[in-house]
Amino acid sequence: MNVKTRFPPSPTGYLHVGSLRTALYNYFFAKKYNGKFLLRIEDTDRERYVEGAVESLIGTLERMKIDYDEGPVVRNGKIVEKGNNGPYVQSARLEIYKKYANQLVDSGHAYYCFCSKERLTKLREQQQAIKQTTKYDRNCLKLSAEEIQTKLQSGESNVIRMKIPDGKTMFHDEIRGDVTIDNQEIDDQVLLKADGFPTYHLAVVVDDYLMGVTHIIRGEEWISSVPKHVILYNWFGFPIPIFAHLPLILNPDKTKLSKRQGDVAVEDYLAKGFLEEALENFVSLLGFNPTADREIYTREELIEHFDLKKINKSGAVFDVNKLLWMNGQYIKKLSDEDFVSRVKPFLKGKVEDDILRRICKIEKSRINLLSDISAVVDSYQSNPVYEKELLVWKKSDSKDAKLQLKNILEFISSIDEIVFNDPQLIEQAISRYIKDNDLENGNVLWPLRVSLSGAERSPSPFELLWVLQKQESLKRIEHAVKILS
Ligand code: GLU
Repeated sequence: MNVKTRFPPSPTGYLHVGSLRTALYNYFFAKKYNGKFLLRIEDTDRERYVEGAVESLIGTLERMKIDYDEGPVVRNGKIVEKGNNGPYVQSARLEIYKKYANQLVDSGHAYYCFCSKERLTKLREQQQAIKQTTKYDRNCLKLSAEEIQTKLQSGESNVIRMKIPDGKTMFHDEIRGDVTIDNQEIDDQVLLKADGFPTYHLAVVVDDYLMGVTHIIRGEEWISSVPKHVILYNWFGFPIPIFAHLPLILNPDKTKLSKRQGDVAVEDYLAKGFLEEALENFVSLLGFNPTADREIYTREELIEHFDLKKINKSGAVFDVNKLLWMNGQYIKKLSDEDFVSRVKPFLKGKVEDDILRRICKIEKSRINLLSDISAVVDSYQSNPVYEKELLVWKKSDSKDAKLQLKNILEFISSIDEIVFNDPQLIEQAISRYIKDNDLENGNVLWPLRVSLSGAERSPSPFELLWVLQKQESLKRIEHAVKILS
């Protein structure tokens, strides 16, 4: 079988992390089976239309390096299409949907409904009051052919509805198994709205068929729509694709992932300094455990191990702390050069390129989020603030700390500037000084390091001297001696 998957988001203005997982899984699946993957824009809900949302969505997919074989792309600021099954934006396919809706009216599977909004609201309220399933009461099915004709000719507002048959509808889901539903539970779904736009149900079935989609992998929230779709597939005589409905993504309190409890937009995570690769790795593991022996996987490995049979049925918790940890792992693996270029957009103040490179080299392993860089750079550029007690090593006292700092101050002033260009030379010089004077490492290096960083934890004093350079280092040590006096 020639596999073809799809990602059909509604343009809401941002890419939800759950949608990112859906897009990735469809992408992985297509890649694994040498198939095709397409992007379709489902913009038939005009009330939710957001200006610029399509461009932003395409931009985010591009940043995430999720490329597709067919679908809309932005070239020179304009949306153009690639692929032979377009248009890939549903609002440009209205004639197609109309044709299919009319075909169902002609074959008696669908009917015109002229009921007003007011009537439908009242009907729903009445049904709710007596705890009945809310369903259209088929009032318009009573209309004669002539009545319908007259109403249509006079331009009366109307929709086209499915005439759900009696019986049961069955389908198979790769994750959920076999599902059977009594058609009595299905409403006479509107297919074509009064504004001439299709509903999701008509558009998705028609498009997936016309675009040759073989596998539909999407969030669990869509599984309740499948019976309607299966009925449509059968009416149209379309082959039924393979379905796989992914488990929900949950907040830590096990409710459905929501904006209220944290970020849900991929764009927000990237803006915070999460790496695309880390986000991809993290999101992919929500609902799927490739080999169960580790957490870090490259894209190639994710593709290799991706299997619908491995997808969990139960929801997966979105644990931001785990994402943060994973991001740190990915940052550590970046080359120094790559790390520098990735933190640059997050810098707030000015910093010389050479200094930034040094800071990045010694801080890379300590940073979990690219945006942390601005505070880190700041700590090298402004005077450290700390309690003087911090200067005292646990096996020593404040008198000794002061003495050690005074002596090392003198020693460092005597070191040639050139030594400060290499942290190893600095280390050699200071180690020799400690040895020659028969001193304890901790007694010297602890107060020295704190005087330079002002922090309980920081890179080594040699690395700090290398970044701060001679003059700034001397200034900081002098200050430490002063506060100990
Ligand atoms: N347009 C739907 C969405 O916004 C797509 C659902 C589907 O994959 O069928 O997620």
